[in-house]
Formats: sequence, C-alpha cells, structure tokens
Amino acid sequence: MKFNTKLIHAGVDPDPSTGAIMTPIFQTSTYVQEGPGHHKGYEYARTQNPTRTALQECLAALENGTDAVCFGSGLAAMDAIIKMLKSGDGVLASNDMYGGSFRLLERVFKQFGISNKLIPMQDPALVESSIEPHTRMIWVETPTNPLLNIVDIRSICEIAHKRGLLVCVDNTFASPYLQNPLDLGADLVLHSATKYLGGHSDVVHGAVVTKNPELAQQLYFIQNATGAVPGPMDCFLVLRGIKTLHVRVQRACENAREIAAFLKSHPRVSRVLYPGFQEHPGHEIAKKQMRDFGGMVSFDLIGGSEEEARQVLSKTRLFACAESLGGVESLIGHPASMTHASLPKAEREKSGLTDSLMRLSVGIEDVSDLIEDLRQALAN
Ligand SMILES: *Cc1c(COP(=O)(O)O)cnc(C)c1O
Repeated sequence: MKFNTKLIHAGVDPDPSTGAIMTPIFQTSTYVQEGPGHHKGYEYARTQNPTRTALQECLAALENGTDAVCFGSGLAAMDAIIKMLKSGDGVLASNDMYGGSFRLLERVFKQFGISNKLIPMQDPALVESSIEPHTRMIWVETPTNPLLNIVDIRSICEIAHKRGLLVCVDNTFASPYLQNPLDLGADLVLHSATKYLGGHSDVVHGAVVTKNPELAQQLYFIQNATGAVPGPMDCFLVLRGIKTLHVRVQRACENAREIAAFLKSHPRVSRVLYPGFQEHPGHEIAKKQMRDFGGMVSFDLIGGSEEEARQVLSKTRLFACAESLGGVESLIGHPASMTHASLPKAEREKSGLTDSLMRLSVGIEDVSDLIEDLRQALAN
C-alpha cells in the first residue's frame, strides 16, 4: 500500500458491532469478561483500548515499523524510551535538541544515574569520537529545532550499530510523510503527535515506533507498568489528523519554500535557516533522506537584538505568537525565551541560537497573505 493510502486506511477497519466507518472513541476503563480470564483481548484500558490499538497500528504502518506504542505526550514517549536504559548508561544527543527533551535528560534522568552528553550531531566524525564506554543510546533530532540542522541518520546508525548502541530519531519535525528513520537504520522513532500528526493544535500526544520485537515488548511493558497512556479521545483526534497529513505537510512545504525565499531577500534579515536552500550545509543529506524540506523556517535580523525580535513578534497578525508547531495555522516563536528557555544560555550560544532568532511554523493558509503579514511586521 502506498503511503498516502496508508494514511487513510492503515489500522482502521469498520467497527464490527455497528459498521461505523470511523474508529469509535472507546471511552471505557474496563471490559466485561465472560468468565475470569475469558475476554476479547481487552481487559483493562491502561493495558489496551481499541481506539489506541487502531492508532498504534496506523502509526506502525506509516513508519514502516511493526509496532507503535502511544503515550500521553511526546515527552511521556521519550520518558518510556529512556526507561529502557539502566543507571550508569549514557545518552549522546544533539546540543540543539528540543528544550523539553534536554530537560527530561538533565533534570530527571540524571538523578537516576543516566548521564547525557550534548554535541553538534551534524558531524558524524564528532559523533564517533564522542562515544564513551558507557554510552548506550544516540538521540538524533533532524531537522533540529530551531536551527534546522540536518543530521545524517544513516551514517549515525552505522557508527552506533558497530558498537551495539541504540539509535532513536525524534521525527517530529519531518513527520512520516517526509522522512522514515527506520528505513535508514534507526532502532526507534519518536513522535510528538501534538505537532504534524495531530496537525490541528487540539491534542497532546506521543508515540514510539520500532520494528525490533524485543524493544516493542519492553515498550508495551513500560506503557502498561508506568501508565502514561493517552485517552481514547486523544487517540481519535490523532487518527483523524493523520488522514490529511500528506496534503497538509505538502502545502506547508510549498508555503515554507516561498516564505524562506521572501525572507532571504528582505533587507532587515541577516540569515534564513531553511534546509531547502542549496547553500544550507545539510542540503544534500536532506535531499537524500527527506522527501521535501519541511514547513519550518528560522531567521535572524541584521544587528538583531532581542528587543527587535520582540517587536516583529508583536506585529504579526496571521502568524500567532505561540509555542508548538505543525498545525494548520502559522505560528511564530522566539526560541530563546520560549521553547528553548530550559537550555542554559551558554548552551544556546554554543549552538548558534541567538537571542534575536525567530522560528516560523508555516501553516497552510494562502501564502500571499502570510508573506504580506511578515512584510508589514518587518517594516520599520
Ligand atoms: C514538542 C516536541 C517534543 C515534545 O512533545 P510533547 O507532545 O509536547 O510532549 C519532542 N520533540 C520535539 C522535536 C518537539 O517539537
């Protein structure tokens, strides 16, 4: 089945009791058994729920995996992944990873003896030389947030697998429509379904996908044992969002391409970070591992101060100033004070995340309105 067909059909069969074409929201905590231990595969809703099962099957298909395990948020999904490690293990990660992912490693798991080391992951040689004897997992995010660096997933997987390390790719920014890390060798794929998969800024949800049966069993165990499960309504909303992923992400990519070109030619803009530009250092790798360049664009102002960035942010009318990304509506954010405030300033500066950098999540509105909005916000 082709990807665009899977979006509509994978995991979703008409409800056998009524014929309902859409998976019902099974808002129940338990299931009646004919006798003790005689049940229809569903015992208690932390362990299994049919709405969640449909979504898990759909997500597994979209990432060419065998199993997907869903959680109440992207960070709950990451939490489950890191819980497969043990005290004494280390995680090697990007120095411009999502701020909340860094906070989870640094402020929660460090206390339990799981260490982390942050490096610019776009240099595979540096990744290789940064592996320590206790490193167990490489945590990849690509494109990165908000600097839109591109990490070569295949090269990192080769380096990791020579040493028996696991690779997890946070595929939130690309979505399965643009990039499928399992096909490039990754062991685990993380999604914050809050973003492109849900797509309508109306749900918080996370998932992990794998095709390794042992990892899948561990993840199902942790899902049930620690209980950070999503509710059935949230699973329904993600299933509904997924049905239009291809048309939404394609349009966002087209709009982002035009907006990046507009910003590049604007006299007040010093740099535009967008992997679709030929001069972007990760352009060739992006062309190889992604189907298009995504809907995220970051930019900086000439001689830019935080104050000037704040002025632009306060003047946009269509681009709403908000955290998050991947919805149908366009958003503008200020990473240094919003999504990445939990990264220390020294870490931010090391990776090039300046105080005047702004990040756009380009939506699917008419692109001429979006460009007009940025033009008036940037006017002196
Ligand atoms: C939002 C986000 C997360 C966290 O997901 P939540 O659903 O907010 O918990 C993780 N990684 C990336 C890249 C994100 O954008």
